[in-house]
Parts: sequence; structure tokens; C-alpha cells
Amino acid sequence: MRVAVLTSGGDSAGMNAAVRAVVKQAIVRGCEAYVVREGYEGLIRGNIEAEGSSDSGAQTPPQVTRDSQGVEANLRFGYGPLLRDWEGDSTDDPTGKNLKGRYIVKVGWDDVRGWMGEGGTIIGTARCAGFRTIEGRMTAAHNLIKEGINALVVCGGDGSLTGADKLRGEWPELVAKLHQNGTITEEQANASKHLVIVGLVGSIDNDMAMTDLTIGAPTALHRICESMDNISTTASSHSRAFVIEVMGRYCGWLALMAGVCGGADFVFIPECPPEAESWEDQMCEVIKRHREVGKRKTMVIVAEGALDKNLKPIKPDYVKDILRNRLQLDTRVTTLGHTQRGGRPCAYDRILPTLQGVEAVNALLESTPETPSYMIGINENKISRIPLVEAVKQTQAIAQAINDKDFESAVKLRDPDFKESFNGFIMTSSLDPEHMLPKEKHLRIAIIQLGAPAGGMNAATRTAARYCLARGHTPLAVQNGFKGLLDDAVFPLSWLKVDSWMTRGGSELGTNRATPDADSLGDIASKFQKHRIDGLFMIGGFEAFTALLTIEEARKHYPQFHVPMIHLPATLSNNVPLTEFSLGSDTSLNALVDACDSIKQSASASRNRVFIVETQGGMCGYLATMGGLATGAVIVYTPESGINLHRLRADVKFLQRRYELDEKGKAEGRLVLKSEKASSVFTLDLMTQVFKEEGGSLFDARSASLGHTLQGGIPSPMDRARATRLSLKCMSFIEENAWAHRSLPEKGRKAKKETAAVITITGSSINFTPVTELVEHADMKNRRGINVWWADYKHLTEIMGSKDYFSGKL
Ligand code: ATP
Repeated sequence: MRVAVLTSGGDSAGMNAAVRAVVKQAIVRGCEAYVVREGYEGLIRGNIEAEGSSDSGAQTPPQVTRDSQGVEANLRFGYGPLLRDWEGDSTDDPTGKNLKGRYIVKVGWDDVRGWMGEGGTIIGTARCAGFRTIEGRMTAAHNLIKEGINALVVCGGDGSLTGADKLRGEWPELVAKLHQNGTITEEQANASKHLVIVGLVGSIDNDMAMTDLTIGAPTALHRICESMDNISTTASSHSRAFVIEVMGRYCGWLALMAGVCGGADFVFIPECPPEAESWEDQMCEVIKRHREVGKRKTMVIVAEGALDKNLKPIKPDYVKDILRNRLQLDTRVTTLGHTQRGGRPCAYDRILPTLQGVEAVNALLESTPETPSYMIGINENKISRIPLVEAVKQTQAIAQAINDKDFESAVKLRDPDFKESFNGFIMTSSLDPEHMLPKEKHLRIAIIQLGAPAGGMNAATRTAARYCLARGHTPLAVQNGFKGLLDDAVFPLSWLKVDSWMTRGGSELGTNRATPDADSLGDIASKFQKHRIDGLFMIGGFEAFTALLTIEEARKHYPQFHVPMIHLPATLSNNVPLTEFSLGSDTSLNALVDACDSIKQSASASRNRVFIVETQGGMCGYLATMGGLATGAVIVYTPESGINLHRLRADVKFLQRRYELDEKGKAEGRLVLKSEKASSVFTLDLMTQVFKEEGGSLFDARSASLGHTLQGGIPSPMDRARATRLSLKCMSFIEENAWAHRSLPEKGRKAKKETAAVITITGSSINFTPVTELVEHADMKNRRGINVWWADYKHLTEIMGSKDYFSGKL
């Protein structure tokens, strides 16, 4: 197959990672890879034939041709640097290569080198009116046929994917017409009977239905949160109000998540307009209450496409006037504009497009004329193939529902956590007494942070505390883990106290690794009694899991422990069994990506340097593996697979071979990621020495140990959002179980084992898994899960890093 990939519509961070993955996976699967410059515009422009050349699609022959069957034949076609540093059609490369008149470009493995960390789209994108016409699509079809391309990956928004599906639907007709009018030969017509298409959703708005996240949306949210965090300090200093306009003409995801993750006071989005007759009154009432309890800053988020319930647009300047005139707040408007689109992709926008790009090529290769065109989506943590037409239809149905003022349907059609996030935002931002429960339902809920600090711990605490206060419960903060409980360091949290905790890293309550044991359980039980604890919320890593297990087992001795207890995994190691994500792991991945981007730059500057970067993570290789995928590392060493001489020898051989095949004078810096506990024998120092020695004149080696920097500073938006969503679920869990427990006769009341649970994300579902069940999935000795979902990604990282491919040829 000849597989082409293009980017279309608005640019988004992560598009380059998608192109890179498609190109590499296409080559791995034995296909030839092409990129189309400038979206559909490039398809229509095609390749202007050089004088005297045939139009067979055979472009400049590869520079390395030692093995015409293998990867070396596809190593590079020389357009990579030109594509990357494109300065317009007039630029000539010293090698004589030129992109002038060349829009469908054959590329090899090395041509997409280093693309993962770049924002925007290197191959260009455009809005192309011509492609909306049948004539335009006919020309595009002709250009694809000339190049012998029969498979297309389109990365863009719903418009781009609609166009793609149209092209596929019309394809047989277009081929027949081109043949009839003599534009293509019979041979070409026969060879081009079918075009297969797969869509990747690249859009910062996260506006596509049937998938949780689109490529670029997480990075845009990063940019927004960075700006909000910055604005927040000045707002607080001057006690000002800020009205912040964010992108999202038809979809309020960015605005809503900005509101949740940035701790805003009010959000305006198209899907959920304020219910009150006068939204002005409603907003002022909410903000007035916030000010009355002592809040010094006010942040209101307005989506570009915000509407009131009569579909009248809500504009930032008008919101500002209301705040100024009615509340006498010194109010400023900040329009974030295109800063949201730009910049380096966050870790998620490197991993997601890589996984989806690989899946797109696999879907192309498995397509038959009968299968529908797929769009590659993600649901929670599951990459899925979704019929493209259905997803586009559902997306359009949302817009229609908004137009029809059917907001309930609009929200339902968005992904499942949209409504949850909105309700969660209201619950945690408003001081409205409407959610207050009757007194007899009030609970005292203890919140404890355990283990090493992890991004999102404080956000989870804030959410839990705010939820409790909205319902009339008492949120009890336990300082310094179980030690603090034993010292009675327990105090109620107030609404204002936790206000800025959404954005704070570390652990505001104080945390340590001490867990209950036979000696302390009795005292802990008496503290449960003393503080009248009706439910326990533990935020932490493996320690929290083992603590919960110990307390659950002690229920047979201590009736005080017969209360609902829930553990929310929070650890950068992501080593809690059965859950695919822990709070803090995304923050750490981003810290790792930031560090590795700088290291890689340094490694590349010296051309031929291999950097071995050591990561934290205990006996769990999650961080090294996913970090490897996000940074384009060539080799990953994890505690699960260990290191031995045989492996080391093969890896050295691979690196030697890889450097031999680099273009003369253009050798690359390369990254190797190693978990700190991958081996007790092959230490970072030893491996660096070995690589250095064996690299000889081909490559040099250096090391860097990232250590505690990986805890990250400010938690990532993803961790803040997850903390909010999961924390709210944990609070509902405690409420339901505590009330059910209370309703039992007091004498001999016992809590079921299901009431001591861990909230876990598995595939596309969120579960409360009894801690007793979790043990069966735990490798207690190594403090990690027995089966992990990311196990195969080490292999994938090394495929993308070319190691497996080259090793097979050695
Ligand atoms: P974004 O979410 O960033 O707006 P998008 O893909 O929705 O991305 P559009 O401008 O709607 O952006 O579409 C991009 C291009 O896709 C258009 O310029 C056009 O070339 C093509 N396209 C869009 N809709 C159609 C259609 N109905 N038929 C054919 N081509 C289309």
C-alpha cells in the first residue's frame, strides 16, 4: 500500500506526532509513506511534473539502499529537513532538492525525525474551498492515482473528516470519470479501484462526538491553564476580576475545563447556558457570595461561542461591564486567542496521536471495500475505531440541539464526563445553599494524603472539601498522614482555605509513608471514634492501598472501621494495581517531557550523543515506558523487563548500526530512558561508560538523572481535571455507603467489604474495586500491579525508535 497522511482545518498541537506515527507505522507494516502538504489544497495541487520525468510517482531514490526490502530502503528521501524548515517554494536545499510544485511527498523514517515535540503542523494545513466542489475532489483523486496512493489518513476536525468521507464515497465514480475522459489509463483505473480512509481528530476544541479527547485539546488546555495561573496572581494582588475569553465557537469543553482546572468563579459555554431568566443576576449573586467569604480574585471564563438560553451571544466586554457596574469590581478582559493553539505539545498530545496514528495505519490495512471509514477515537483509556460518518453526524446533532435550545440533548451527546464536569464545577464553585442536605444526612469525612506528593492531590482535596461543604458535611483534614491522626492534627477545612489548592503542587496536608500496623491500629481506631469519622478519603499511592487493606482487615477487631473508606490513587509511579491512571502521573510525564526535550536538544547539538536519562517510578516502569513514547526514546529499560548482558550487547549493536546509517555529519542525539530500579547491577554510571566505550567514533554517551524533579511543580490540567472528577465520585461513594450503613440497626452493624474500595480506571470504565479484590492483582513484593495495560508500549516505543526494526536486520 501507499499511505498518505495530511493535516487539515485549524492546526493543533500533536498533529506532527500523528504524522510521524503514521509514517513510521506505515513503513513498519511494509507500506510506502507519503505526506501531503497544505491539507486538501495540496491534494488538489499535486505534484507538478518536472520536465522529462514520468509521473509514475517514483520520487528521488533513497539515499541508503543496502537493503531494498527493509527499513533502510525507507530511511530517508531527503525532504524531511526541507519540510521542517520550509521557507516557501523558492528555497533550494544544498542537495538540490526543492519542494516547489511538490505537494505529495514521499518520506522515510528519518524524514519525520524530531517532529514529535513540535507544535502546529510541519506539513502545513489549509482551509480549501476547492475541495468542497466535485471538480476539486476529482483533481485530488487524479493526483492520488498518479502517485499510486490508495490509502489516506486525514487529521483534522469534523469538516476535514466529512470531506474525507465524501472523497471515499465518491471514489469509484471519480475513477470511472477520470478513465472515461482519458485522464487516467485503464491500468491506473484498475489499480485504483478502492481508496481507504481513516480519520484522526485534530482539533483544539475537543468538539468531536464519540471520542473523549481530540488531538491538540489537552495542549490548548495547558496553555489556558498557564495563562489563568498567571492571571490569578495579579488578580489576587489587586483584588481584581478577570473575564477570560477562550476558544470554542461551538463547543464549551475548553471553557468548562478551564473553569474546573483554573478554579474559576463562573463559566459561560454554549451547551449549558445559565438557567436563570437573568444570567446577569445569577452571575452577580454567585460572585458576590464568593467575595463575601473573603475571596480576593474573580475569574469568569467565556467561551467564544457562549450563548444565553435564548441563543443570544454572551460577550466578554458585556460581562466586564456587568461586574464593574453592579459589583464595582475592577474588571479586565483577557482574550487568549491564538496563544491557545500554539506551542509544544504536552505529553498527552504526543502519546495520544502516536497511539492513534499507529491504530490508523492498522485500520487502513484491515479495511475492505465493505468496511466503513473509521475515525480513531479514545474512550477513557481505550483507543477505538468509530464509524466516521456516525461521529460526524452526532457532532452535527449537537450543534442542531443547541440551535433548537435543546441543551439537555446537546450535553448528553457530548462525551459522558461533560455533564459530570459541569455539575462538578457548579458544586465546587458555588456557595449556593441549594445542594445542602437535611441535617440527619450530614457526615464527617476525613481526608488524608499518603505516600510521596503527587500532582492533583491538593486538587482532589479541594474538590472533596468543597463538595462536603456544599452538602452540609464536615470535611476533616488530617495533617501528616496517620501520624497526624494519632497526634490529633485534624481540622475542618473551609471553602476559602482550599480555594487556591487546585493549582498547588506537593501536598498541602503534609504526607509521609507511615502506614497503620498492629501497634497503631487500636490508637487509630480510637481517633476515628474521637473525631466521629463517618467516612475516610485517602489520596495516595501504594501506601494508601496497603493502609486501606490493613484497616479493612482490622474491621474484625475495631467497629470504628466499619465506615466507608475510599482510596483515590495518586502517585507518579502509577503502580496501584488495576487502575490505569493515578493522579500525578500526567504531571510527572510532562515534567519528564520538558526535561527530555532540553536534554535532546543538547544531545542533538553535539550531533552524536546518546543520553541515558534515569527516571523515578520505583519497581514500576510506567514513567519510563510512557515517557519513552512521549519523547521518542530509542530504548527503554524497566524493572519489569530488567537489563542483562545479552540485551545490553544487542542494544549497543543497534546504536552502532543506527549511527552508521545516519547521514554523514548529521548524526542525531538519541535518548535512552531507564527506570532507576531497572537493574541493581547495570547502574546509570556503568551503562553510560559501556555506551561511551562501545560508541567509539560513532557516538558519545552522557547521563542525566531526573530524580525528584519528576514530581513536577504545578499539577497538569489533566491531573486537576481527573482529581476533580474522581474525587466527586469518591464523595458520592462515601455518602451512599455511609447512609446505607446508618440505616442498619445499630447493634452489630457491619460494613461490607465493598465499602473499603479503590477508585480505578480500567479501559473505558471507572469502578470502585474492593481493596480485598485488588490484592489479587498486586505484586506486593515489588509494589506494582501484576498485569499492566502499558506493557506493550515499551515495544511500541522501541518500534517507533526504530530499534526493533533495525535489530531484526542485524
Ligand atoms: P477545525 O475544527 O479546526 O475547524 P475542520 O476540519 O472542522 O477543523 P473546516 O474548515 O470545517 O475545519 O474543514 C477543513 C477543510 O475540509 C475545508 O477547508 C474543506 O477543504 C474540507 N471540507 C470541510 N467540509 C467539507 C465538506 N462538507 N465537503 C468537502 N470538503 C469539506
